[in-house]
Amino acid sequence: MFRHENVVHGGELGVARDDAEPAGVIQQISTPYAPLQDTFGRTFDYVRIAVTEKCNLRCTYCMPEEGVDFKNGEMLLSADEIQRVIGVLARMGVKKVRFTGGEPLVRKDIVKLVAGAANTPGIKAVHITTNGILFGKYAKELRAAGLTGVNLSLDTMNQEKFQRITRREGCEKVIDSIKQAIDLGFPRVKVNTVVMRGFNDDELHDFTEWTKDHPVTVRFIEFMPFDAHQIWETGEHFLSAETMIKHLKEWYPNIEDASGTRTEHHIFKVPGYQGKIAIIPAFTRSLCGNCSRIRLTADGGVRNCLYSDREYTVRELLRTGGTDDDVAELFRMAFREKARDGFESKKQSMMRQTTVKWAGRTSMTQIGG
Ligand code: SAM
Ligand code: SF4
Repeated sequence: MFRHENVVHGGELGVARDDAEPAGVIQQISTPYAPLQDTFGRTFDYVRIAVTEKCNLRCTYCMPEEGVDFKNGEMLLSADEIQRVIGVLARMGVKKVRFTGGEPLVRKDIVKLVAGAANTPGIKAVHITTNGILFGKYAKELRAAGLTGVNLSLDTMNQEKFQRITRREGCEKVIDSIKQAIDLGFPRVKVNTVVMRGFNDDELHDFTEWTKDHPVTVRFIEFMPFDAHQIWETGEHFLSAETMIKHLKEWYPNIEDASGTRTEHHIFKVPGYQGKIAIIPAFTRSLCGNCSRIRLTADGGVRNCLYSDREYTVRELLRTGGTDDDVAELFRMAFREKARDGFESKKQSMMRQTTVKWAGRTSMTQIGG
């Protein structure tokens, strides 16, 4: 009944689960399902939903200059379909929704999506991860719609370097967006900084200093090989979480451990500073055991791990009369297969890809008829 797809998908970074914040109007949750769990007893209560594959920037570590083969129109889940999935997941114990992409703010119905999630019984936090370029346009509406957290991506505070890494202008705009998010009183404001050796590792100190007067968490994220092989290649730009922590402790011998989210195990605060620094081992994957994330791609692919290539497609189910029970079962199937950690996921995906190479030959010309 369910369609299986093996698709290698672009890199969308896992970002953390925050403490739940009240979102919109909380109504009574109807007929709860059993919580979504995997075979290792982990429970999943946080869904990250990519709402588009399009983007108004072209970060070299994420997208080629010409973009990717963007899926459009009918291929993408509609706002109503996304809302339905959120409703089912909320009944399975999901409490937090994050909208991401691509760039979620290029999707015209983003405010409606946020409002829908915020008003779903059981959902306590609705966050967005954005590059900040269009944030100024929507910030107030998003706040009013019930958005409780914003992660803004900024890898450098230097205009020339910003242009080099994003292939577009807008450094000042993103910095203004961060300030605006703080001023509007969003309960959670974070800055995502992908750290690349030889590009912005010399700015880690400046970003840390920035937390002196800005009540934000700056998250230094390990660079991952999800960049269509443009700049990862030899891994020469990679800087490990361990090295970042070492630098921080050298620069600030009195830096204190602070509290963070499940994937922000390495979190620090310079005494007297308003903000915090989190180090995210996205590549070294030392926090997989704490993972509580479900991923939904813009075209309806359910993923149980960032490092897995396996997807279950919810879109057809939604469009061919599948019931809420069917949708819930599809998520259960996906999570019964979740590997212990990202390394195991990656290994299984590689094995599948080798197998699929010959098993996938279906035409007679290929089989040798
Ligand atoms: N467009 C939005 C943005 O940039 O915030 C949301 C989508 S973006 C894919 C989500 C996060 O993934 C961003 O913080 C981005 O910097 C990060 N990211 C993208 N490619 C990455 C890579 N190869 N390694 C580490 N982080 C990456
Ligand atoms: Fe990728 Fe986000 Fe950069 Fe767009 S802004 S290219 S989605 S990281």
